[in-house]
Amino acid sequence: MTNILPLGVILDRSHLNGSSNEFVRHVNCEDCGSSDGNSLYTDGHTYCFVCHTWKPGNGSTTFTVSNNRMSYTGFASRLPKRNLSEETCEKYKIYQDGNILRMYYHDSSGAPIGAKVKTKNKVFSYEGESNGNFFGQHLY
Ligand SMILES: [Zn+2]
Repeated sequence: MTNILPLGVILDRSHLNGSSNEFVRHVNCEDCGSSDGNSLYTDGHTYCFVCHTWKPGNGSTTFTVSNNRMSYTGFASRLPKRNLSEETCEKYKIYQDGNILRMYYHDSSGAPIGAKVKTKNKVFSYEGESNGNFFGQHLY
């Protein structure tokens, strides 16, 4: 049995590895309004040197922009006023960060996506995004 490769199978693929990605020209920036602070590259991505906005090109490279994933700030600590132990706070991801209390909300994979924030003055706000889950839902 012999393997006979058809002609043309061996191609030079060096142009596919991204090494040909070069600066093309200065373009305007939609984000900061600069007329020429933005730079266009051969793969189509742009980078603005004024506002440092990077945008993927329209080329074949699919690019996953990191979503609004949050990370925990602060740490679980005992909340005597709420009769919550440190363990409970850890379980429900109620983290204290100085005078700020954050109650984290999670997506179905258990990753934090947002947090209800309570300041010392009992002002509530919300950071990140909500997918409609109720608090603590990641535990069920
Ligand atoms: Zn810009």
